[in-house]
This record gives sequence, structure tokens and C-alpha cells, in this order.
Amino acid sequence: MKNSICFVCLFFCFSVFAQRKRIDLLIYNAKIYTVDSKFSTATAIAIKDGKIFDVGKNGLREKYWPLQSINADGKFIYPGFIDAHAHFFGYANGLQNADLVGTESWDDILSRLKTFAASHPNGWLLGRGWDQNDWTVKAFPTNEKLNQLFPDRPVILTRIDGHAAIANQKALDMSGVKTGDKLSGGEVQVSNGKLTGILIDNAVGLVSRNIPPLTAEQIKKALLEAQQNCFAVGLTTVDDCGLGFQSVELANQAQNSGELKMRMYIMLSDGRANYDWAKKNGKLKTDRLNVRSFKVYADGALGSRGACLLEPYSDQVGHYGFLLSSQQHFDSVAQVINDLGFQMCTHAIGDSGNRTILNIYAKYLKGKNDHRWRIEHAQVLNQNDFKLFGQYNIIPSVQPTHATSDMYWAGDRVGVQRIKGAYAYKQLLNENKWLPLGTDFPVEDISTFKTFHSAVFRTDSKEYPAGGYQMENALTRQDALRGMTIWAAKSNFEENEKGSLEKGKFADFVILDKDIMTIDAREILNTSVLATYINGEKVYRKK
Ligand SMILES: [Zn+2]
Repeated sequence: MKNSICFVCLFFCFSVFAQRKRIDLLIYNAKIYTVDSKFSTATAIAIKDGKIFDVGKNGLREKYWPLQSINADGKFIYPGFIDAHAHFFGYANGLQNADLVGTESWDDILSRLKTFAASHPNGWLLGRGWDQNDWTVKAFPTNEKLNQLFPDRPVILTRIDGHAAIANQKALDMSGVKTGDKLSGGEVQVSNGKLTGILIDNAVGLVSRNIPPLTAEQIKKALLEAQQNCFAVGLTTVDDCGLGFQSVELANQAQNSGELKMRMYIMLSDGRANYDWAKKNGKLKTDRLNVRSFKVYADGALGSRGACLLEPYSDQVGHYGFLLSSQQHFDSVAQVINDLGFQMCTHAIGDSGNRTILNIYAKYLKGKNDHRWRIEHAQVLNQNDFKLFGQYNIIPSVQPTHATSDMYWAGDRVGVQRIKGAYAYKQLLNENKWLPLGTDFPVEDISTFKTFHSAVFRTDSKEYPAGGYQMENALTRQDALRGMTIWAAKSNFEENEKGSLEKGKFADFVILDKDIMTIDAREILNTSVLATYINGEKVYRKK
């Protein structure tokens, strides 16, 4: 009798599971923000073959037979974050240099350098960001201790402003720098007849020009280090704004080998070789890589007064800034990009830079369209020009942390009137109806939470200013989240494969310890990513 009961049980269990569909992963007991068109929430998600198989209530547990099942314990799931404007390769490259910003003494630098050298054991040892004005002893250091620590490895550490550096003896020897060397616009410092290692202005180049460029293998290693940091802040796709075709090929190869898991949207830089490459190869699209756009620069930055303004800078008489190329150049590349069927993404900061590009875009876009040509930053706009974004479906691609970093001096540059049209994200959103968000890292921090916090509360990480900066341009939490997910995906022509947690899309998502849609402003920056998934694979877990 006992045996037959067992048999019945077994048969019952088997038939129940036989009816259930086999899936790879089921996560339940979560609060899931799907970011679908209704902004609906769910409690369970089913993953199969790297894609979202189902999203719904905890009842999905009865429907599927998962290889792995996770009780999320009420934690919060969001679509993987997309940074619509970053410099991933540049950031990776920077990680290969020791960060010496904020060091408090020469000994402090040496100890940071020792730690850094242990994790980066080969080749030149590079560092950047020291400032002797931050130290108790404010004189330039000498390289004696550096020579003792690194007798056989060339070292050069650049001062924060790039106008001075200290090199060790090995680096000086390899570069042929000797006492008594003279050059115009620079100085090789000597004390008691000996080189101190300090190089001023043009003398820095005597050594730095001998630093070998990174090999493909080193770049790949740097990218893997960079992606790990990006996973830790929940990024699953990054837009790299302006690379050569060689970098595209390297990224494609590193992704195909399975090492580089980060999805990338790469904009090619405005240059002959890249246009030739695009003409020959056309668009490149894989599951992890999308190349179908060009990055062009209209003008410079506001901080250094290189942004091109319609009226002079408020803090420099008669100075307008400047365009980086002629109007004719912008027009001719727009023609080429249009003929290729590619997307044009142009860096424009000043109101004149923006107007120039808006008008050239208008000529090619001819009213409503789905070409999704982007203006990167769209930072200072004349009030008469906002409407062009709506009229021609031009995408403003903005970086909320720029507002809260620049707010200390931006008003000095453009004055009280023009500043109203600066960092005007809400006003831009009203025109185009959707707005991708990014960071511009490494210019800003890679933190997705800082982007969200700045977009919604318009304060920096010190919660300054109280009440927020130009709050009429704050975004709602929902719109900020859309900007970091579905709208960023749309700006990359990828809204059908990512950016929301819906059936059939890539299983790219993050699990957070806090609910950024409801918590207090100051809690946002204390939020942690517990896990990041790309294509259903866990690529990061908080330790
Ligand atoms: Zn940028």
C-alpha cells in the first residue's frame, strides 16, 4: 500500500512538473519596476535563454520549472541602467593611472603608488592629480624616494593641472633627460647639480612622449576592469561617444570572445578613416554592440569658455567662444551621415553652438522623422530654439550631474537671463517628449544614482543647494528612470530589445537594496546595487 501511495505521489509530481515550462531562472517576492508604457510593477520574473520569458505575480512559481529560483525578499528590480553618454574606453584608460587627487603629502602619494603598482605590475607607472598646495610642505618634492621604490620601472606623476610632473630616474634616463637640458616654454629642475625629477610645462613632454601606447591586450584588460566598476553601479549598456573604428573592432572581438560582457553603443568619431570604414562596412549590430552613428563636436566647454555663445560671455568682455569647425564642415558631414543612413550625434554646449547644429539638422531632417539625430549636452539654449527639438524630432541627450557640478559657476559665464535656458531638462523633455540621460564619465562620476538624484532633486551629493537648483527643470522620478532605461535605449534605436522588463527583451536588470522611486532624497546616494544581470547572467554581486 505504502509503495503505491508513493508511486501515485511521484506520478502526480512528475505530471505537474511535466506541464510546467522549463526556464533558467525565476525571481519572486520582488518589487519589479518594469518601465513598460504603463509603468507597471510586478513581483516575479522568469528568464530563459538570456531573455525575459514572463513577468507577473508570484503565481509564476506555479507556472514554471526553473533551474534556479531566487527569493528576492522584497528587494527592488529595475531594468539594467543605460548610460546614454559616456566615454567607456577613456574611463578604462584612466583606470590604468594611479589616482592621486586629494593626496595630503608626498608620502601619501608614495603609499598610494605602491598599492597601485601591485595591482598594475607591468610597464610604465603613471599617476595624475597631485597638488602640492594641498600638503603641509608646499614645495615641489624630489624623486629620491621614488627612485628607491621603483629603480627599474619608469614612473611619471602629473600634477593636477597637467603643467608639471615628477619623473623617476629610470624614466628620465629612458628619455635622455640630463642636467643642463634647456628648452623653450619649459624647465627641467635641478638642485645641487642633480635632477629632482620635476618637469615644468614643455619639459613634461620630454618624458611623456616616450610612454608607449597601450597594446590591444592592455586595452582589453582595462575594459574588463572598467566594466566591473560599471556593473557595480547597475550599468548594462554604455554609449561610448566618439571612438575610432579600431576600437569598435577591438570591442567587437572582446565581446565575441565572451570576455567583455558590457553592451555598447559606439559612436564613431568625425574623421575620414571612420567615414571610409562606415561606407565599406555599413551598420554593425550584434546582441552586444551597435554601431550606426557619428559623434561630431560643435564647440568646447562652458567652464573653459570654449562653448560658442550668441552674445559675449558675461564674465569676459567681447568673448563669444568659438565653433570647433566651420559651418560648412558640419553641413558636409551631416550630408555624408544622412547618405549613410547613420545617426548624427553632435556635442553642443553654447546657445550658438546649439543653434548652428539645430539649423543644419533641420535641413536634413525636414520636419517630423524617426532619424533620432541627437544633440549631446544641449546645455545652453536660446529660448527661441527649444521648439526646434520638437519640430524636427531632435533628441536632447543630457547629463544631469553636469547641472549640479556646473551650477557653482555657470551663472557667472552666461548671466541671469541666459542661465534660465541652461541645463533645462524639463523644458527639453516637453519639446521632444522623451529624453535620454547619461553621465559623460569620466568627466563626471560613473554613478547612476548621482544621475537620478541630480535629475530629480537638482542638488549635488552635499545636498546643495537647499531646495534644488532651477527646480522648474527637475524631472519626476518616473521620467528620470525612463531616461536611464527605455528612453536611453530608444536614443540608441534599441527600445525593442532593452530598456524595460517585458517579455522577449534581453534579461538585463539590477537588484537594488532600496526603492529609489519612494525613498528620501538623501537615501538615493546610499543605495546599493545588490546584483546586476546581463543576458540573464549574473555579472555582479555585492560582496
Ligand atoms: Zn562626452
